Amino acid sequence: MARLRWWEQQSFSLCLRFGLGALLLAALALTAPRLRAADQPSGERPNIIVILTDDQGYHDVGFNGGEQIPTPHLDSIARHGVRFTSGYVTYAVCSPSRAGLLTGRYPQRFGYERNPRWAPHDPAIGLAREERTLADLLGAAGYQCGLIGKWHLGAHPDFHPLRRGFHEFFGMIGGGKRYFPEDLTLADPRQAKNEGESYRTKITRGDVVVETTKYLTDEFSDEAVSFVDRNKNRPFFLLLAYNAPHSPMQAPEEYLARFPDIKNPKRRTYAAMVSAVDDGVGRVLERLRAHGLERNTLIFFLSDNGGPTADNASDNTPLRGGKSSPFEGGWRVPFAAQWPARLPRGKDFDHPVSALDIFATAAAAAGATVDPTRALDGVDLVPFVTGAKKAPPHEAVFLRMFDRGTYAVRSGDYKLVIPAKDQAPQLYNLRKDIGETRNLASTHPEELRRLDALRTAWDAQLIPPAFPGLQSETAGAGKGKAKQ
Ligand code: CA
Repeated sequence: MARLRWWEQQSFSLCLRFGLGALLLAALALTAPRLRAADQPSGERPNIIVILTDDQGYHDVGFNGGEQIPTPHLDSIARHGVRFTSGYVTYAVCSPSRAGLLTGRYPQRFGYERNPRWAPHDPAIGLAREERTLADLLGAAGYQCGLIGKWHLGAHPDFHPLRRGFHEFFGMIGGGKRYFPEDLTLADPRQAKNEGESYRTKITRGDVVVETTKYLTDEFSDEAVSFVDRNKNRPFFLLLAYNAPHSPMQAPEEYLARFPDIKNPKRRTYAAMVSAVDDGVGRVLERLRAHGLERNTLIFFLSDNGGPTADNASDNTPLRGGKSSPFEGGWRVPFAAQWPARLPRGKDFDHPVSALDIFATAAAAAGATVDPTRALDGVDLVPFVTGAKKAPPHEAVFLRMFDRGTYAVRSGDYKLVIPAKDQAPQLYNLRKDIGETRNLASTHPEELRRLDALRTAWDAQLIPPAFPGLQSETAGAGKGKAKQ
């Protein structure tokens, strides 16, 4: 069974259980949409790597103009491929954003609209079992799938990454982690009473506790290099999900020493944390080159949400707002991709794209079969980036944050924002006003109506949140209380 495609597995199973009646269903499965890359180099399917950072600011990469923190390796992804200047995620905080990325579907469709509280005993708080992850998809297509770093899609064992399509896991189940090994004092995740305490649980490989010895970012980079080495002879999918530069703000002297001129200690630590990530990305890229894999490896890089500037001293310039905001700084993120075999080199792509597109692009690149019952919201970006398709990839990209009644819609040059329930909608022209400073709602009523109609139609497809959020944790979290 292991080598059968998803639809073959489904058909085989159904035939056993339902006999002749299954033939019709199998025939239907055969007609499921199959995304196929049109021009595979040498017939080889690409490796796929998604590098995700946590709470990194839009301006805190060299490729978006940041100068204070050199990020030569992240920049090299944009330089060797495509810089997406309007790259959005599906939510302005960590966990729902990851649910969107890993399913290729707006998480608001399946009630994933809050950061979950730490609930290792609750089988209802996590990524709905009906949803297929990118690892489910690529694993069924014969890829070796690994997650290194942060999961944050449910702490109950039913949601463990090894049960959601990944063959390998090295990292953390919750929303964050302290960075020095001596701080990781809880061996059993069930000892952690809340999200904050979960930051002190040890790293695991699969389900087995690991005694780490290094700064956590370096541990993840080591593991990523090892993953590439071990899987160099077969197609692989690696989600390298650094928890940096999410708080707590911690970095070793080795990295802090690179920034003697930054006076703000929080900003200096942040810079060191980003620099450590960049080193790790450089090591992964070097291993790909050493194995001759770089040309046919599709790499995406993005942050899971905008920078929380007060919390970690990140910088979203020139965008307004930050993490958890519907303004651009909340959900427009540093975003780039390279795939030398297929994508142009050194291109800026300015139409809005979404983290949702990673799933569809990877599915097409791998020739994998998408579940017809769970329609994707993303698109294969390759024909848009190469110019084969001239239209924008999306008529609009959307954000809803249910608890506050918050909405945002980006369509063309325009952006609709409803900051909270009962507040009047605002309209901005991002081409002329990227900082969202001039509300055009009263002077451009037709654009306002157009975007609000898109919003209403999208909203009608969504459901309310399916589980309580982090804010529902008991107030006793005390000093272990975690930020979102
Ligand atoms: Ca985050």
